[in-house]
Amino acid sequence: MTDIKPSRRSLLTWLGAGTGFAVLAGCGSNKAEAKSFPVSMSEAQWKQKLTAAEFRVLRKEGTERPYTSPLNKENRAGTFTCAGCANPVYSSKTKYDSGTGWPSFWQAISGGVGTSTDYKLAYPRTEVHCARCGGHLGHIFDDGPKPTGKRHCINGIAMDFKPA
Ligand SMILES: [Zn+2]
Repeated sequence: MTDIKPSRRSLLTWLGAGTGFAVLAGCGSNKAEAKSFPVSMSEAQWKQKLTAAEFRVLRKEGTERPYTSPLNKENRAGTFTCAGCANPVYSSKTKYDSGTGWPSFWQAISGGVGTSTDYKLAYPRTEVHCARCGGHLGHIFDDGPKPTGKRHCINGIAMDFKPA
């Protein structure tokens, strides 16, 4: 479902040329960008749509400083959606306080996210992104609570909250 389509990607890269991002888009370091997603925009278009901080996390796999997101303390019932495309990615039912300073969940909404392997650090990590636009959300670790044992460590700035 996420097979690489070089021609389409080249076109998008071409459309984004002139902004200086063509080289970055072509370096292949961001696996999410190498895939085809239902919502697909050029870097220039994303820059217009997102705030600078959102762009850095969602499109450049940045990480927000811990304890900075108001969503850390968001405990109402509702749905966390991708800040890039409004795709529902996490439910309040799976949110828990991990004590890390980032909004944490033990499970994603089914079909809401995709994963890739991130080799940025010395050890591989499971990167998690929006299944609709490919926007980087965070990482998944194996030290989460039951029933999954997973900790989805998510940048709050990559999400919006819709109360139920
Ligand atoms: Zn998205």
